[in-house]
Amino acid sequence: MARKTTQQGVKAARKSRAVGLKAFKAKANASTKPAPPWTKAEVEEAFRRFAAANPNPRGELQYINPFTLLVAVVLSAQATDAGVNKATPALFKLADTPEKMVKLGEARVRTLIKTIGLYRTKAKNLIALSRQLVAQHGGEVPDNREALEALPGVGRKTANVVLNTAFGEPTIAVDTHIFRVGNRTGLAPGKTPLEVEEKLMQVVPQKYLLHAHHWLILHGRYVCLARRPLCEKCIIADLCKWPGKTAFAVPPSVHGIS
Ligand code: SF4
Repeated sequence: MARKTTQQGVKAARKSRAVGLKAFKAKANASTKPAPPWTKAEVEEAFRRFAAANPNPRGELQYINPFTLLVAVVLSAQATDAGVNKATPALFKLADTPEKMVKLGEARVRTLIKTIGLYRTKAKNLIALSRQLVAQHGGEVPDNREALEALPGVGRKTANVVLNTAFGEPTIAVDTHIFRVGNRTGLAPGKTPLEVEEKLMQVVPQKYLLHAHHWLILHGRYVCLARRPLCEKCIIADLCKWPGKTAFAVPPSVHGIS
């Protein structure tokens, strides 16, 4: 009798697990549908909350001046900020200006950044961009997009970070986190980073544009995670349009099923 009861218990547990998994998958599938647009009031409210929670958001890359910021951002392509921060103190101690970077030389730079992905190409670019800064900009980092994007290894995203962080321009650099948050929440849907950037520039209220970049990156990095967003801890959960958001409010035992 006891054996029968145990078997029934196991069967019931399996059934419940299967039902949980089915419900989880159904909710997750719903998340593939396009999210409805946000109203102006909803966007305003979301950024009001981001601003209240973190009035002066900061990026996580360490730097000393505009040049070292530029270097850190170039190094962060396809690498984590934490990984870049481990390597840059030693590099910046020896080369915190373009002139010093050129003097240090490619081989030495390569050795100093070898823990960072794509370090060979990045070392080459750092020397080339430092030479260009010395030759064309008097050793200063230019404060305009065209000149920044003309530097080796510098694309639109890097230029946006430098313009925003070093020069206080209201730009939004769309990285993997902002791209995901923009699309998932429906705030700024787009097929490319540029589309998401342009949409964000249209919808984010002017007064929040300067910090929007950092709020959205931090939100994507620590809350709206790629595989398992922490919707239950999200300060904009009620505003978010992602149909799958409730899937992640189910008990942790179901989260474990994949
Ligand atoms: S509710 Fe969930 S999906 Fe929506 S923004 Fe928050 S963490 Fe991301």
